[in-house]
Amino acid sequence: MTATMTTRNGPFAFHYRCNECGREYTITPERMRCDHCAGRQEEKRPLRGLLEVVISVTTLLPPEWQPLDLLPVEREWFPPIPVGNTPLWEPRRLREHLGLPSLFLKDDGLNPTGSLKDRASWLVAAFARKHGIRRVVVASTGNAGSSMAGIGAAAGLEVRLYLPASAPPAKRVQSRQYGADLQEVDGTYDEAFELSLKYLDEHGGLSRNTGFNPLTIEGKKTVALEIFRQLGRTPDHVFVSTGDGVIISGVFRGFEDLVSLGLAPRVPEVICVQAEGSNAIARALAQGSFGPPVRSDTIADSISVDVPAGGEFALRRLQRHRGKTVTVSDREILEAQRLLASGSGCFVEPAAATAFAGLRRYREKISPDRCVVVLLTGNGLKDIAAATRGIEENVKTLQQPGSELS
Ligand SMILES: *Cc1c(COP(=O)(O)O)cnc(C)c1O
Repeated sequence: MTATMTTRNGPFAFHYRCNECGREYTITPERMRCDHCAGRQEEKRPLRGLLEVVISVTTLLPPEWQPLDLLPVEREWFPPIPVGNTPLWEPRRLREHLGLPSLFLKDDGLNPTGSLKDRASWLVAAFARKHGIRRVVVASTGNAGSSMAGIGAAAGLEVRLYLPASAPPAKRVQSRQYGADLQEVDGTYDEAFELSLKYLDEHGGLSRNTGFNPLTIEGKKTVALEIFRQLGRTPDHVFVSTGDGVIISGVFRGFEDLVSLGLAPRVPEVICVQAEGSNAIARALAQGSFGPPVRSDTIADSISVDVPAGGEFALRRLQRHRGKTVTVSDREILEAQRLLASGSGCFVEPAAATAFAGLRRYREKISPDRCVVVLLTGNGLKDIAAATRGIEENVKTLQQPGSELS
């Protein structure tokens, strides 16, 4: 075995560490998982041997640090497209409605392609450019693909996507507009994933498959760093809608970095919110490990997964930091979507509204003086069919003005 080398970026040094056994690796384009633990992969279970990026400080931490500085690729490689720095809303009417004066909405639907996935795509694109790689390949339920297509367009990368034909039309159209080579798969996301790996094997390129490429978790941590900077403190509770478990792993990673660099005293309570029809991680947390997959079925397409790719990582983080899980019904998701839109002006897709539905479910367990952040991961225009259903089924809204339903 060769010695692990670190990647430098300003005052920081980085390397990979296996999330399961702790073996360490150099950050290279070929390295995706831990050789040892990936060898123990079972069929139809979350990916084994996922790697995390470990950060350390080599000199004094500059007081003017930016979230981008805490990533293992230098700033100059990031393509010119404004990812991140999304607003933190202070939704007055929802605060009153819920009795939470310190409620904030982190609106990641305002990223260039309309979802939080841009944070991961941006880092993967920067890494590809730094290493002279021209082609990026990804299988996706929709948002990761359209995101990589858009960021790839800004970077001048060739992007090949594998999407199930059932993905919402807006996400497919978006990908085509960005000029990606879109392969519509007449099958599930799992089959799309297999096809993408086969293509990579035969033709080469960098994989942006979520969870699989460690930089997807790493890129998503910037949302936690931004929340910390915008609030000027660590929040008490953060609600995160969860499918593959990569976003929530990234959120944990960001807060862990702040603690390890001595910038924050603690990791907040992170609440993993899942749809009743797609709750593998909630079940695993209750049982201590992942069992056989259950076929997923929810209106929130972006969090509909049978086998969560990043499940092992997310489960370990939830256990380590005493995270909680909440599951909500499709009806509650549609209600949350409409309540958010009519009560704050923030229109999000069902997968994003799931986090807000989780807060409504969990509300009684939170004292009113607590600082609460709901992470809103995708724009409402991404899936008009689902939003139309909410209107047709006449789910509750927050009346204009004043006459409130609860
Ligand atoms: C991908 C996605 C999620 C869930 O992220 P995971 O990493 O799969 O848990 C939630 N909301 C939206 C809008 C997404 O695109």
